Amino acid sequence: MIVCLLRLVVRTSGFHPDNSSSILLGDDEKRCSPWVSIFFALFIEVGMDEGNEIPKNELAFSQIDRDAAAEFISAGGALDKLSEQFEERPVQIELLKSITDAFNQKLLGVYEAGTGVGKSYAYLIPSVLWAVTNKQRVIISTGTINLQQQLCEKDIPAVEKIIGKKIKFTLMKGRQNYICKRRLMETSSVLDLFEDETEEIKKIADWEETTPTGSKSEMPFMPSENAWTKVNSESDACMGKRCPFFNECYVMKVRKEAATSNLIVVNHHLLFADIESRMTGAGYEDASVLPPYRHIIFDEAHGIENAATSFFSESVNRFKINKLVYQMYRKRKGSEYGQLCSIAVFSKNEEKLQEAAELTNKIRTCLLNVEIAAKDLLLHDYTKRLYEASAREFGPFLVSVGALAESLGEFTGLARLIMEGVSDSDKDMPAFWEAKIILGRLENYVILLKNFPKWDEKRQNVYWIQKKRLPPDMIKQENDPEYVILTETPLDISTLMNNGVFEEMDSVICTSATLRTGRDFRYWCGRTGVSYAEPSRVLCKAFDSPFPYHTNMLFAVPNDAPLPDRPEFQQWIEMAIPRLITAAQGRTLILFTSYESLKSAHQTTICMLKGFSGLIMKQGDDDNSRLLEKFKNDKASVLFATDSFWQGVDIPGESLSQVIIVKLPFTVPNDPVFVARSEAIEKRGGNSFMELSVPEAVIKFRQGIGRLIRRSDDKGVVTVLDRRLYEKRYGINFITSLPDCKKSYDSLDDTCDKIKQFIFN
Ligand code: SF4
Repeated sequence: MIVCLLRLVVRTSGFHPDNSSSILLGDDEKRCSPWVSIFFALFIEVGMDEGNEIPKNELAFSQIDRDAAAEFISAGGALDKLSEQFEERPVQIELLKSITDAFNQKLLGVYEAGTGVGKSYAYLIPSVLWAVTNKQRVIISTGTINLQQQLCEKDIPAVEKIIGKKIKFTLMKGRQNYICKRRLMETSSVLDLFEDETEEIKKIADWEETTPTGSKSEMPFMPSENAWTKVNSESDACMGKRCPFFNECYVMKVRKEAATSNLIVVNHHLLFADIESRMTGAGYEDASVLPPYRHIIFDEAHGIENAATSFFSESVNRFKINKLVYQMYRKRKGSEYGQLCSIAVFSKNEEKLQEAAELTNKIRTCLLNVEIAAKDLLLHDYTKRLYEASAREFGPFLVSVGALAESLGEFTGLARLIMEGVSDSDKDMPAFWEAKIILGRLENYVILLKNFPKWDEKRQNVYWIQKKRLPPDMIKQENDPEYVILTETPLDISTLMNNGVFEEMDSVICTSATLRTGRDFRYWCGRTGVSYAEPSRVLCKAFDSPFPYHTNMLFAVPNDAPLPDRPEFQQWIEMAIPRLITAAQGRTLILFTSYESLKSAHQTTICMLKGFSGLIMKQGDDDNSRLLEKFKNDKASVLFATDSFWQGVDIPGESLSQVIIVKLPFTVPNDPVFVARSEAIEKRGGNSFMELSVPEAVIKFRQGIGRLIRRSDDKGVVTVLDRRLYEKRYGINFITSLPDCKKSYDSLDDTCDKIKQFIFN
């Protein structure tokens, strides 16, 4: 117990200077107050056992025999004996050997492995061998749920068979993805209070009776956010060992399993939550969000920078604050409601509640002032960044933000005082736990709001505001159809990644089909912090796809397209796209960089292709996964898409025979974080266009192209309507990133003929 308490002291002493700590756990909530951290640190001790044992003497680690590991996937090896379709892939064997070396020599391995290399076996086999031999845990972090499922349902069980050993692995999600039995019971007992969600909560309760996992992703229906957030697991509201449901708790079960697992599969977001808690006090030796580990595999590593940027960003708007304050305290027609009122009667500071009404009114006025000042500042713009040149303009807005931070801070202080006045024996009441969740979130918002006026001292972050339109159902209730979001985003995540991940881990493997720009890894290594590591510790290698691109892929650019900055460009693409679709008989995915352009082109195509046999769909018509299902099932169908469809879409076979890329995917120049990052490059004498804009666009461009060939017998065309590829000097960076394939640079007429010939001959 003393050791345990000492650990608590250590863990809770290194919190953020602003007095918040970051434990984690959900995909939405990232930080919570220190007292909750203390509690959390107590309950994470659960489940620790010999599975966490890490040999103290480094010499105790046994090296993995790279040739013996490679045997498993070589001709005559275990995989050959198990699979009738086995074909030896020399690139896969080379990749596996190199990853084994990275484990043995404690390296940072950066591997670009093209589609079809078979990278999951190439990293899973050394990971399992290392984990089993050395009793060390390996974390596998991915960017998408699809890949996590593929690993847990298909690849890891297959590797168990290949190696002939049972291993323990766990798929861990953020705790907010699991139901909390205690909150569900308490919410169900006061259903009358939640008129809007009553039916949904009943449905959730019925489902909970039969679910073995308690995981939201396994629900046969999608609950609304309002209903789910009333019953999901939250670190701030978790009673840990004192909870009556502790032994049956879904979150605890997963944690216990993870504590004795060799492999843990997570998403990048959850891993960053763990890293953050370790960097801010939890250290690397004990359990935090995840059990301790010394080895990480980042799959889909091209997304690390975006995932980390998103995780370490913090945003707030008036709805978020209003909702939380309202849940905590509200006064209507002389009566008082909210969690704080339920708590106050048990508090020795009950009389403080009298101040709540005035404070909540003050917060509402301050929120209004912030909104007015922000809209005055934005005028016709949608985003604006706070920096030297705009600081004077931001003056009145910052004053209003400072006032909001102060009034909200007074309110959280009051809530804390009332809660601290409750004796320990009364703290188990539901209202107390719910209030802790709310208080934790409000305190985070106070920190964010206080940071805005101090932007000048916090140059490691970008501070910016954004105007957004309300969803149609909310516009009716509000006078103003627009609202404002305040965001703090890290300018650069490379130092953080280097300090928190690369320096701390024994080995880190980063792999993806697209890490290089042109022929080198410098851009990706620089953005993610790998470049800070000792060069002798870094191993960068590329393993080309074994698929026959030279015979199966045509890369076509119509040479009579106007340049994209010409006013006639949109009209031209709206004429060209229907012709290209007809040439390929549908089967086309069209990737846009602008939703406005997408909508207009989709409308025109529907008009021009009247009588076309396939579906002509656009992103936004339906849920993305259902759109993809329809696209796969209807061979002639066409899908107009943007953003998320540039990557991760896997449609093997004839349903996808053409990918049209409308414009090179440069980030829009008014993205405030992108502009701030560009300026930082210029300040140190670099060329932001060549060092940031082009390489970032090349990686996205390669992701888009990668949608086409998913199997060795896939065949098709990538048609790019952006002539800058051949007309501008920087175009060479895109061209040299292409796989070795057939190329065409002809008129639209000839391009259409070539497409027909190529696909159907
Ligand atoms: S242990 Fe925590 S998460 Fe689990 S049911 Fe109890 S309160 Fe909910």
